Amino acid sequence: MQSVVLTRPTLVLNKAWQPVHVATAARCLIMLWNGTVKVVDPQDYQTYSWEDWSNIPAQNGDDVVRTVDREILLPEIVVLQNYSKVPRQTVTFSRRNLFRRDGFRCQYCGCKPQSSDLTIDHVIPRSQQGGSSWENCVLACIKCNTHKGGRTPKQASMKLLKKPVRPKWTHLFDVPQHRISSWSRFISDAYWDVELQE
Ligand SMILES: [Zn+2]
Repeated sequence: MQSVVLTRPTLVLNKAWQPVHVATAARCLIMLWNGTVKVVDPQDYQTYSWEDWSNIPAQNGDDVVRTVDREILLPEIVVLQNYSKVPRQTVTFSRRNLFRRDGFRCQYCGCKPQSSDLTIDHVIPRSQQGGSSWENCVLACIKCNTHKGGRTPKQASMKLLKKPVRPKWTHLFDVPQHRISSWSRFISDAYWDVELQE
């Protein structure tokens, strides 16, 4: 039970109060304890240091972590006290994320077939020392991939819809079950379309 509570996601705001990260409650409590963050009360935006926060008595139904001598409330939102204390989460280079980045669309002709009809194309072919990376892999439909064969787009006279880059989104941000209602004060729907910066 305790461990489930400690992995609860907590929204991390940067010094400018912009959401930058989602961290576990356990990690946020450590950051609170060492002064890296303060807890934000989503109702009145008041901030709390470790000393203040750890002395707030828990009410029935509050999520708490029990230490030897007290119960500590779990924060829902914390704000960093300095810049760049939390390293950016890097987006895993995975099939799922590549599909997501490319919007399930062939990056040459723009078609949107069934997922099973999309392949991962190495822009610079492996036969020409192209690597497997965000910058060199795109989705391609079977037709485009077959036509391109072992050639670069230039050699095949094909044009990419857009330059492939490493996505900037943080994976956890838009997983619905990881969102907590109080976060909505800090994250508008339009926010999801904006690139994250740190
Ligand atoms: Zn295509």
